[in-house]
Amino acid sequence: MTAVYEELGLPAAVNANGKMTALGGSVLSDAVVAAMGEAARSHVVMDRLLEAAGAELARAAGTEDACPTTGAAAGIAISVAALIAGTDPYRVERLPDACGAPDEVVLPKGHAVHFGAPVRQMVALGGGRAVEAGEVNKMRAEHLAGAIGDRTAALLYVQSHHTVQKGMVSLAETVRVGRAHGVPVIVDAAAEEDLRAWPATGADLVVYSGGKAVGGPTSGMICGPSRLIRACRAQYGGIGRPMKVGKETVLGLVHAVREHTARAGAAAEEAERQRLRMAELARRLGELPGLTADVVRDEAGRLIHRAQLTVDPEQAGRDAAGLAAELAGGDPPVFLRDHHATSGRLSVDPRTLGPEDEELLVRRLTSLLHGEPA
Ligand SMILES: *Cc1c(COP(=O)(O)O)cnc(C)c1O
Repeated sequence: MTAVYEELGLPAAVNANGKMTALGGSVLSDAVVAAMGEAARSHVVMDRLLEAAGAELARAAGTEDACPTTGAAAGIAISVAALIAGTDPYRVERLPDACGAPDEVVLPKGHAVHFGAPVRQMVALGGGRAVEAGEVNKMRAEHLAGAIGDRTAALLYVQSHHTVQKGMVSLAETVRVGRAHGVPVIVDAAAEEDLRAWPATGADLVVYSGGKAVGGPTSGMICGPSRLIRACRAQYGGIGRPMKVGKETVLGLVHAVREHTARAGAAAEEAERQRLRMAELARRLGELPGLTADVVRDEAGRLIHRAQLTVDPEQAGRDAAGLAAELAGGDPPVFLRDHHATSGRLSVDPRTLGPEDEELLVRRLTSLLHGEPA
């Protein structure tokens, strides 16, 4: 299965980190790969494909319309551009020059995160100017409202484990502030699983990644009302051009969203199966010298249970970051989730880890922590 990578001298990575861009996002189902292959074999009128695919994606999100993108990052840039320039071809082609239109995008300071690139830069790419409200660890609705003025084009809310998880204003409050000031709200819900939940908050444009929770190819989508989605599509004749989404990708996204929607009813049972799997893995790994292990729910509230390993550097002979680096440096490389490595914690994400990968991880950790050569 991995011959195409081996041909380039690369081993396939063992991914216990989650749906990470750095590890190629998601592994695609056979049906999604087949749809992409079939789409690649013929021509199609792209404008009509974007509309037809958008209509189906919108049904999954419960919105009037949707616009396929190359990813959530492009979704942010295109949403910002759409809210600044609308559908006017002159203004679309002048971006990132806003031609005097309101171009400020207000976001909580604690949401100005780096997801692999800075959110603020995606705003700039769409012709917007990011304005931070509140402080890193504390803000109130008044801070958000106070940052809104004549130049405000949008509010941006980032729903992610990357953001500061305390002292922030809820999305519901953000939507209320936006409504009160007549300012649309963009939600970056890149890695969220529930495609209907975020538009249902009353937010105007919701951006998802297709390559994360949805399990699709490297892609994304913007969901919202017809009027705004038309403006999003219009950006493909402007700043959206270097974010051009291909026909294969669009079909892969549509089929992945179909499968994701079909699975949604069983999401709770699947999460419970994963939780039990991680509990058993934690029990085994907790017996190794220098590790204590338990199961923790996702910090951003998603239905993901991960095995969390706390590394005692004295007993383990290296700290959490060191252990993660040794695993990543092995053959094949094994990647744990290391967001909290500086606090001594690593975790194992069940979604991307097959049963064989799990055994390999146990063997590798066992030999490292018992001081055997890898
Ligand atoms: C991953 C991520 C993005 C970017 O999504 P892509 O689909 O990779 O472009 C944007 N925002 C957040 C919070 C993310 O986690």
